[in-house]
Amino acid sequence: MRRGIDYQNLSRDDLIYLLGVEDKAEIEEIYAEAYKTKLKYIGNQVFFRGLIEISNICRKNCYYCGIRSGNHNVHRFNLSEAEILKSARWAWEHQYASLAIQSGERDDAEFIDFVEAILLGIREFSGNDLGITLSCGEQTEETYQRWREAGASRYLLRIETSNREFYRRLHPADHDYDKRLECLGRLRRTGYQVGTGVMSGLPGQTNEHLADDIIFFKEHDIDMVGMGPWIPHFETPLGRAHPEIDNTRQLEMGLKMIALVRLYLKDVNIAATTALQALHPAGREMGLMAGANVIMPVITENEHRGDYVLYDGKPVCDENAEGFRLALDKAILKLGEKVAYGNQGNSLHWQKRVGKQHG
Ligand code: SAH
Ligand code: SF4
Repeated sequence: MRRGIDYQNLSRDDLIYLLGVEDKAEIEEIYAEAYKTKLKYIGNQVFFRGLIEISNICRKNCYYCGIRSGNHNVHRFNLSEAEILKSARWAWEHQYASLAIQSGERDDAEFIDFVEAILLGIREFSGNDLGITLSCGEQTEETYQRWREAGASRYLLRIETSNREFYRRLHPADHDYDKRLECLGRLRRTGYQVGTGVMSGLPGQTNEHLADDIIFFKEHDIDMVGMGPWIPHFETPLGRAHPEIDNTRQLEMGLKMIALVRLYLKDVNIAATTALQALHPAGREMGLMAGANVIMPVITENEHRGDYVLYDGKPVCDENAEGFRLALDKAILKLGEKVAYGNQGNSLHWQKRVGKQHG
């Protein structure tokens, strides 16, 4: 039954109710309200982050992820420093203004030094002109600090689910929820713009879980949110146990989460992620219309691209090919939005947070 909703002041019960809404008109209303909120706080602009997937080697074994260490049918790769810097320079020359560097999780000295060297290399050619987001998993405070000093200003570490019990069902016993939480604290203390997020549509996940995830983002004063629908990968325990998904439903849940995070947190950066695009060719554009304001086109141009496969059906099109870029640009313009080239697109929430801290 339809109930009166104050979209700007949602309660936990409202969130749970809206996550369960199935009526198409009512779902469209949620997206429209979220989009209005996005316009109010951010305007009709979209920030690009050129995404460089630097390695698919991972010491962890998350039950959902295609590059988990237990999957022996992956061709493992490391991009070279030269390859990474070439992509970074390409992004800079094309006015992307921000990069996102992502990898599997490693905590050995060689990897930590390598990431630091890349950051310093990027700074050398670009000055402080590129905003850099890292997404390289759980690390010590000292490592986060070193990478911060070398030039990374944002970090994305998804909590995956804010429910401790549910987290345990998605990960092996030695993957500790409290450690992940502690890492978010370390990132905050070392001065990053802190990003987190969850997957939606996981087997066993409830609307209560998702509502609590949204509340978690707010309670932890998160600056950026990267979320996406779970998509099964055939070589993972979760994907094998639940090989079939309803694409339409997964997409809808992913979009609803974006919309509700926008309505509940208002001034954070929210990415329309590749997982949406895996479910629908225009999934990311739909994400923008549901309240997202960031797109992360993959910009690495090399033979390893097809090996960074976290889930089945991940699009591997050549996003930095001129034709593709122009098509995405045009699709965004058609929505009444425009890409804010040359603008790093720092989180508005973070700007207010830091402003507040300093006075
Ligand atoms: N290793 C780092 C970063 C790479 S993984 C980390 O885990 O933080 C980036 C994200 O991919 C994860 O946070 C997870 O939310 C997402 N992911 C992994 N497997 C997925 C799947 N099967 N479907 C959708 N998203 C997935
Ligand atoms: Fe590794 Fe991240 Fe995949 Fe987990 S989600 S297996 S940490 S790459």
